[in-house]
Amino acid sequence: MSRAFDASVVGAGPNGLAAAVVLARAGLRVQVLERAATIGGGTRTAELTLPGFRHDICSAVHPMAMASGFFRRWGLEQRVEMIVPEVSYAHPVDGGTAGVAYRDLDRTVEGLGVDGATWRRMFGRLVELEDEISQFTLSPILQVPRHPGAVVEFGLRILAQGGPWWDAGLETREARALLAGVMAHAIRPMPSLSASAAGLTLAVHGHGRGWALPRGGSQSIADALAADLVAHGGVIETDSEVTDLGQLDADVALLDVTPRQLISIAGDRLPAGYRRRLERFRYGGGASKVDFALSGPVPWSVQELAASPTVHLGGDRADVARAEHDVARGRHSDDPFVLVVQPSVVDDTRAPAGQHSLWAYAHVPSGSTRDMTEVITAQIERFAPGFRELVLASHSFSADELEEHDPNYIGGDIASGAPSLTQLVARPVLSTDPWRTPAKGVYLASSSVPPGPSVHGMGGAYAARSALRHEFGITTLPALGPDRKATA
Ligand SMILES: Cc1cc2nc3c(=O)[nH]c(=O)nc-3n(C[C@H](O)[C@H](O)[C@H](O)COP(=O)(O)OP(=O)(O)OC[C@H]3O[C@@H](n4cnc5c(N)ncnc54)[C@H](O)[C@@H]3O)c2cc1C
Repeated sequence: MSRAFDASVVGAGPNGLAAAVVLARAGLRVQVLERAATIGGGTRTAELTLPGFRHDICSAVHPMAMASGFFRRWGLEQRVEMIVPEVSYAHPVDGGTAGVAYRDLDRTVEGLGVDGATWRRMFGRLVELEDEISQFTLSPILQVPRHPGAVVEFGLRILAQGGPWWDAGLETREARALLAGVMAHAIRPMPSLSASAAGLTLAVHGHGRGWALPRGGSQSIADALAADLVAHGGVIETDSEVTDLGQLDADVALLDVTPRQLISIAGDRLPAGYRRRLERFRYGGGASKVDFALSGPVPWSVQELAASPTVHLGGDRADVARAEHDVARGRHSDDPFVLVVQPSVVDDTRAPAGQHSLWAYAHVPSGSTRDMTEVITAQIERFAPGFRELVLASHSFSADELEEHDPNYIGGDIASGAPSLTQLVARPVLSTDPWRTPAKGVYLASSSVPPGPSVHGMGGAYAARSALRHEFGITTLPALGPDRKATA
């Protein structure tokens, strides 16, 4: 039977759109079906609070997009204005001091006092190896590394910060907290190898390509991908939930969903053994999100924080580790780790003149139904007395509401599958081609496949590469760049 499309992509998140772009650029007729009313998945931006305040609903800061091989070949920075701040992230501790990670390593070292030399030893060489490290972290883990020397150096640093011996390095509260905050992004127990790997990766980019914010919000990334797709003949339909592969008008399907939805959508087409392996895939702790419209800038006790789009809150390293331990045990912490992003300090499109938008989430147990507005407000107030008086309006998503917003965030798990060491290797199953399922023509193209969570589009691009090879006999990737000359 002739089909209207060569391939259907289910889900218009960054991975789904990246997959669709690669397929369309290869000359295929591509359709994208998205259940929500708007495209973007975890890269949507909306006026959640008041008119003129543009809030990133999910992702806000993009070190991994800047490092992504897919986005670099596609020319992200030529299509979207990526604002790279001077301060990558900062972490205040009680008593009016803070650790600050400037993009400039020397400036960071200077600010960290007695720990400066240790910070340089930890990151100096890794920052020089940033591209080699990205090549490794954003590749299928079972592939032979292209730069084994860099991988060994990186692995040794991960080991040094990934166990109970992590106390052996840094001495000051500020430097320890600074490193703990970046490790906490993984929503994993700390110390652990998985938190260490995630933290060091992000920290290296913090002193390298930077922690960029797209002008206009993360939606700018989704819109640019969609524009390129449409320019190459692709079709996007919103308000189109796919519950069964029979709905698709193509023989090849790439699903930007997690294993749980894959089981439900593909049903009996998946062999029982593979389904059982998918059922063993574990989802991680959750995030509970609050967005604020503010009448003015946050009155941080530490002046440097005013220029840092990303601020980590939760106190000393031991406090952060304790809070993450609670979440891993399925408990709400009394003093949770809170990630804050204040995009309007670098991007004037996010709030009316003189006013500010603030994005924040706390780590909570999977499936939490708690509205964390008060807890997050108190945590910010602790390091910025007077914050509360600036709040004009706020909007909250509990962890379970995040799943309603986007079903890929099961129980509020923003990684679409716990990024444990095991599940970074077997994601969702151990395979040299984990994007290709045993069902004919069915591929998984989300952050539940390698290289895992974050906005980098690589999961989608790898799934498209596999589908091109196995379904269409195309072994050379198409040109992706805006000038159409670059080859992948
Ligand atoms: C609160 C929060 C903060 C985050 N912060 C950051 C950050 O600052 N930086 C960063 O890099 N990453 C961040 N992330 C993670 C990042 O958003 C994700 O890793 C990324 O969006 C994953 O992309 P994806 O395409 O795999 O899935 P998603 O972006 O989740 O997209 C999946 C899409 O598929 C659609 N869909 C699902 N099922 C169906 C179906 N059956 N039929 C049709 N459509 C369907 C969904 O509606 C959605 O649009 C954050 C996530 C959250 C939730």
